[in-house]
Amino acid sequence: MRGVLNEQTKTVHKPNDHAYRLAACGALFHVSEKSTVVVDLTDAVDEGGASRCGRCFEDGGGY
Ligand SMILES: [Zn+2]
Repeated sequence: MRGVLNEQTKTVHKPNDHAYRLAACGALFHVSEKSTVVVDLTDAVDEGGASRCGRCFEDGGGY
């Protein structure tokens, strides 16, 4: 599954269906494209140490 990583906060969001660099929860709307990257969700969390957005993913923590 793909996710959108905010490199500043190390938080992975669920991609918006219509604009893949934006988060489904809207959190990345004001974040520069330079600070976001599309990643594999599992890799980012398990290997990158990122956390999942609590608003995009019900089992995530923080946001
Ligand atoms: Zn989110």
